[in-house]
Amino acid sequence: MDLYEHQAREIFEEHGIVVPRAEVTDSPEEARAIARRLGGRAVVKAQVKTGGRGRAGGVKMAADPAAAQLTARQILGMDIKGHRVGKVMLAQPVDIEDEFYVSYVLDRAAGGFLAIASAEGGTEIEEVAATRPEAVARIPVDPVKGVTSAKAGEIAEAAGLPPQSVDVLVRLWQVLVREDALLVEVNPLVRTREGRILALDGKVTLDDNARFRQARWGADETGHRDPLEAAAAAKGLNYVKLDGEVGIIGNGAGLVMSTLDVVAGCGARPANFLDIGGGASARIMSDGLAVILSDPDVKSVLVNVFGGITACDAVADGIVQALETVRLTRPLVVRLDGNNAARGRAILDDRAHPLVEQADTMDGAARRAAELATTA
Ligand code: GDP
Ligand code: MN
Repeated sequence: MDLYEHQAREIFEEHGIVVPRAEVTDSPEEARAIARRLGGRAVVKAQVKTGGRGRAGGVKMAADPAAAQLTARQILGMDIKGHRVGKVMLAQPVDIEDEFYVSYVLDRAAGGFLAIASAEGGTEIEEVAATRPEAVARIPVDPVKGVTSAKAGEIAEAAGLPPQSVDVLVRLWQVLVREDALLVEVNPLVRTREGRILALDGKVTLDDNARFRQARWGADETGHRDPLEAAAAAKGLNYVKLDGEVGIIGNGAGLVMSTLDVVAGCGARPANFLDIGGGASARIMSDGLAVILSDPDVKSVLVNVFGGITACDAVADGIVQALETVRLTRPLVVRLDGNNAARGRAILDDRAHPLVEQADTMDGAARRAAELATTA
């Protein structure tokens, strides 16, 4: 989960990284009061979980409290790369002498972390990295040894950062470790006219596997961009929308993944990933079918179940009951195998729904679902 800038700023402050004074609000009137508290002038900054806010008009300098109110009114509600601005942060302006870039990011391939730093930070960092890669230092960080003062000195030297930034580099590593982050980025890290070093903007991505101990940040309200995924998540389903035409339901992530592959091998494209897990109750089945059928791209649905602890007759009962609540509008191909498969198949035969057909094997079921989807 990504944090907002103001949350990253709060974390930085807790770890002794100097940040500008700032407050957050969703109201232009309050923005005016905040600017007054900050001494009159303020930088008004859109709080959205995407970069490039400055270029999109989401970071503006206000000369006095009245201007801060007007600017906040402009920025609130703005759309920045598909993110609606719900809050602005007002920060005390800083006289910038130099802008640097520093980050630590998980490097999965290397099984470690990477420090990325540059003396040419700011909004142009992507261009700098693309056109003059030598201006951006990339230094591997051993996750166990971490960033000591010596290591920070090495990073600062490689990137051409001033010696005062060594302390920030060490603290930023502590942020990554203590907050369970996969990425911490400061751009720009600035040097002021008086030689102070401040983090002017921050991005922190937390490791979702550690969410249980980072509860203070709450749920990620921007996590589900796709409305079907949001609906499925609300029902507790393990659903991922894909852009094909064969809807897929299976039990167990491994089986569902293989089912996606087999469907693709049959020349069709999976419309989703949906793992109903071990339970496979009637409610999960009807919730799952309802979500899949509400995707207009779906032309056929494949239910692929290998009964282990879950018995196939329970799954078949689930399908039959789901057919009571969900109006089946596209063909459903079912493959049941494993525990109580014969009983499960008999239940579906008895129901004899005109749009439900069964297949004996996973390959056969995938072929049939693909055929129904491509000829529909
Ligand atoms: P981003 O565009 O989303 O990365 O937003 P930033 O917070 O990094 O702001 C973009 C740019 O605005 C920075 O690189 C700075 O050049 C400028 N900026 C932000 N805050 C201040 C400030 O307090 N004073 C000055 N002079 N410039 C600022
Ligand atoms: Mn920035």
